Amino acid sequence: MIIHRHDVVVVGAGLAGLYAALMTSDKVDTAVVSKVYPTRSHSGAAQGGCAASLGNEVEDHWEWHFYDTVRGSDFLGDQDAQEILVKEAPLVIYECEHMGVPFSRTPEGKIAQRPFGGHFGNFGKTPMRRSCYAADRTGHAQLHTLFEQCLKRGVRLYNEFFLLHLIVRDDRCYGGVAWDLRHGGLHCFHAKAVMLATGGYARAWKITTNSMSNTGDGLSLVLRAGLPLEDMEFVQFHPTGLYRSGILVSEAARGEGGYLINGKGERFMERYAPEKMELAPRDVISRSEQTEIDEGRGINGEAYVHLDLRHLGREAIMEKLPQIHELAWKFAGVDCIEEPIPIQPSAHYAMGGIPTDVHGQVLKDEKKTPVVGLYAAGECACVSNHGANRLGTNSTLDCCVYGRRSGIAMAKFVAEEGELLPDLPEGAAEPARELVTRIFKSKGKERMVEIREQLRETMTENMGVFRTEDSMSKALRVVKELQERYKELSIQDKSQQFNTEFMEAVELGYLLDFVEPIIVGGLARKESRGAHFRKDFPQRDDKNWLKHTLAWKTEEGIRLGYKPVVITRFPPEERKY
Ligand SMILES: Cc1cc2nc3c(=O)[nH]c(=O)nc-3n(C[C@H](O)[C@H](O)[C@H](O)COP(=O)(O)OP(=O)(O)OC[C@H]3O[C@@H](n4cnc5c(N)ncnc54)[C@H](O)[C@@H]3O)c2cc1C
Repeated sequence: MIIHRHDVVVVGAGLAGLYAALMTSDKVDTAVVSKVYPTRSHSGAAQGGCAASLGNEVEDHWEWHFYDTVRGSDFLGDQDAQEILVKEAPLVIYECEHMGVPFSRTPEGKIAQRPFGGHFGNFGKTPMRRSCYAADRTGHAQLHTLFEQCLKRGVRLYNEFFLLHLIVRDDRCYGGVAWDLRHGGLHCFHAKAVMLATGGYARAWKITTNSMSNTGDGLSLVLRAGLPLEDMEFVQFHPTGLYRSGILVSEAARGEGGYLINGKGERFMERYAPEKMELAPRDVISRSEQTEIDEGRGINGEAYVHLDLRHLGREAIMEKLPQIHELAWKFAGVDCIEEPIPIQPSAHYAMGGIPTDVHGQVLKDEKKTPVVGLYAAGECACVSNHGANRLGTNSTLDCCVYGRRSGIAMAKFVAEEGELLPDLPEGAAEPARELVTRIFKSKGKERMVEIREQLRETMTENMGVFRTEDSMSKALRVVKELQERYKELSIQDKSQQFNTEFMEAVELGYLLDFVEPIIVGGLARKESRGAHFRKDFPQRDDKNWLKHTLAWKTEEGIRLGYKPVVITRFPPEERKY
C-alpha cells in the first residue's frame, strides 16, 4: 500500500477544510484529501450569504448577533463557542474579501448585507441586514477563492480520494486510509494532525437540499473509531425546498421580501409568527408549512405551498436572486417573475456532529477529554454553535471561523510535536482492506439502491419536521432491518477505475450507521426544542433536557450519555419564534 506522510491531513475540501489548510500551509506541510473535486464540495451550493455584524447597511453589534444565535439555537448552543463565532465573523469576512471574494456592494462600495431569518437588531427587536453575499452564489464565490489561495500556497491536493477508515488508537489519531477513485487501490495517509471537514449528511432523507456527496462519512468513521457524536437528533428542515426534488430555494428569497402563501391564498405566517412573518427562524417556518399542508391547506390540498416573489419585480429578482430564477425554471418549470414557486420543507443541515472544543479538537466523552491529533470543523462538527436550530448564513460563517481556528490549532500542535511522526499502529489499514474485500467479493443478494431508497423514504416519513414515539420507533425498526440486509449487499461492477457502485455501497454503510444515533437520541429526548419537535412532547423542558446528547456505537446498539450546556451570558427564556 502506498503511504503518504504529511504534517497535516485535512479530509474535506469545502469551506471548513480549505480554510484550515490555508492557515496551516505557510507553516507546515499540508495535504487535503477529498472524494469530490474541491470546487464541487457542497459549500459551493451555498446561496444566501455569510453572517457578520459589519453594520454596513444598518447599525449592528456582535452582541446582537450573539443573542440571535443563542436564541435561534433554542438555548442549546454553547455560548462560549457562539461568542467566538460572532466576534470573529467580521475578521473572516474581511479576510475573504482581501483574498478576492467578490461580495455584492452597497452604492458607496461597502460589502452589501441582506436580511435573513432569525437575525434582528437590538436583541430581537428591530429588522436587520447582516448577511454578506455575492448575489445568490455566495458559497461558490468563497469556495473558489479559498481553492485558488490553497493552490497558490502549495497545499498538496489528493482529489477524488475517498476515506474509508480513520486510524485511532488509545485516544490518538494517526491518519486514515482512502480509496483512489480514479485508479482504484488503497492509500494510507499518515499524519501528525488529521482534520475531518467532511460536511453534512442530509442524503439520508428522500427530500433534501443536499448534494449527492453529503452522506455523513466523517460522522460514521468517528462512530466506528469508538468516539461519540453529539446532538444528532437535531436535523434542520429548510422551509423552501422545491416541491418533490427538495432542491433549495435560498432563504434570501424571503430575505428580499418573498411571501409564503397557502392554498387559500393566505400569508399563513400571520397565524404562527405575526411579528416576524416569513423571517422567523427555519424550524418555526417549516413547522408552520407542514401544519398548513397536514391540515389540508396546501395548494390544491397537495403537499406543498407557494413562495411568491412576483411583487419583487423582474429587476430585483434578476439582480439579487438570479440563481433562484434559474433553479425554479429548470427544476420546477416555473418562471418566478410571473408565477409563484411550489415549495415544501426539505432536509438541509446537521446541527449535531463530532464534538469538538473551540479550537476544533475532537472530544471523546462527557468530561471533554481530547483526542490527540484529531480535529473537526464545519458541518460535520458540533462545537456547538447551532444547538437545536441553526440560523441562516451562520453555517458558512461557522466553516470559516472554526475551519480557521482549527488550522491555527493544528499548526501549533504540529510545531509542538517536533520532527518525528509517531509510528503507525500495527495493522492500521486492516479495517479498510477488509471493507474493500468484503464489498468486492460478496455474493450476497441485496442491492444497494433498494436499501438506500427505503432508508431515505423512511427518514422523510418518520424523522421529519414532526416526530412521535411511534414514528421514531418505526424508523428504528426499519433501520435495524436495513443494517442486517446491508450485510448481504453485493455489487455488480467489479472494476477499479471510477467505480461509483462501490463508492455508493460504502456511502450507504455510512448512512446506515449515523442515522441510528439520530433516531435513538430523538426517542430519548422527551421534549420539543428547535428542530426536534415531538407531537407527543410539544413543550421545551429545560428542567430535564437542557443538555447535550452524546451517542456511542456499541455491540449492543447506541449508548447515550449527556453533558451540560455552556451558558455564559443569556439564560434560557421562552422562545415562541
Ligand atoms: C443548497 C445549500 C445552500 C446553502 N446555503 C447556505 C448559505 O447561504 N449560508 C450558509 O451559511 N450556509 C448555507 N448552507 C450550509 C452550508 O453551505 C454548509 O453547511 C457548509 O458549506 C458545509 O461546508 P463544509 O466545509 O463543512 O463541507 P462541504 O462543503 O460539504 O464539503 C465536504 C467535503 O468533504 C469531502 N468528503 C466527504 N466525505 C469524504 C470521504 N469519505 N473521503 C474524502 N472526502 C470526503 C467532500 O469531498 C467535500 O470536499 C447551504 C447548504 C446547502 C445544501
